[in-house]
Amino acid sequence: MNKERKLIIAGNWKMNKTVAEATDLLADLTRDLAAVKEVDIVVCPPFTALQSVSKAILETKNIKLGAQNMSENNFGAFTGEICAGMLKEFSVRYVILGHSERRLYQKESDALIAKKASAVHAAALKPIVCVGETLAEREANQTEKVLETQVRGSLAGLTKEQIVETVLAYEPVWAIGTGKTATTQQAQDAHAFIRRLLAKMFDEAAAKKVRIQYGGSVKPANAKELMSQLDVDGALVGGASLEARSFADIIKNSI
Ligand code: PEP
Repeated sequence: MNKERKLIIAGNWKMNKTVAEATDLLADLTRDLAAVKEVDIVVCPPFTALQSVSKAILETKNIKLGAQNMSENNFGAFTGEICAGMLKEFSVRYVILGHSERRLYQKESDALIAKKASAVHAAALKPIVCVGETLAEREANQTEKVLETQVRGSLAGLTKEQIVETVLAYEPVWAIGTGKTATTQQAQDAHAFIRRLLAKMFDEAAAKKVRIQYGGSVKPANAKELMSQLDVDGALVGGASLEARSFADIIKNSI
C-alpha cells in the first residue's frame, strides 16, 4: 500500500502478560514479522515486562517498544508513578497517553494529558495520544465537538515541531473491546476531521505529517480496508495484539 505517511501499528497489551508470557509473545512476533519494513511496529507491554521485552527487542530490527502511560513529573515523591527517565532505561520510544480506559477509570483530563504529552516530548520520546467519543456522544451527534475538545485540550502547548512527532489514535470508545468496528467511512470521516483541526491549530504542512491511528476492534479481517482510507495511518490494537498470529496478520494485511 503506497501511502503518504508510513503506517504505524501498535499493540496495547494493557494489564495482560506475565514476564514469561510477554517474552514469548515478543519472540513469536520477532519471527513472524522479521521481513516487514513497510510499517512502524510498536508493542506496549505492562511496565513489569518492559525490561525483559526491551532485552528481547534488541534482537529485532523492526519492532519498537512503547509504554502505556507516563507521569507528567520526572523523579521524586510520586508514589506509584513511572517517569520518562525510567522508561528511557528500557529503550522505550513511544508512550500511549489518554487511553479511554485511563480517562474513565483514572479520571485523566485533557489538561493532564497535555502535561504528559509535553513531558514525553521533553524526554525525546513520542506520545500516542488517544481521543474518541462514547456511543451516547455519537448518537447525540456530538462526535466532532467531543473530538475537537479532546484534541485541542490534549495537545495544548505543543509546538509545530512536536506535533509532527506525535501520533494520534482515534478510538471510538464504543468500538473498544466490543467487537464493533467503526465503518471505514466513519473512521475516515473522523480522521479527516482531526487532520483539518490540526491544520487550524498548527498549519497544513504539519497536519499532513501527523499519523493518525484507528483503534477499536481491529482484526486481521478488517485491517486492510481500514488502512486503505486516505487519513488512516495505522492502528492501535488491543485484544488482537495479545496473540502473535492475529497481530502479525493485522500488520501483514495492512501492507
Ligand atoms: C484499545 O484498547 O486501544 C483497543 C483498540 O482495544 P481493542 O482492539 O481490543 O478494541
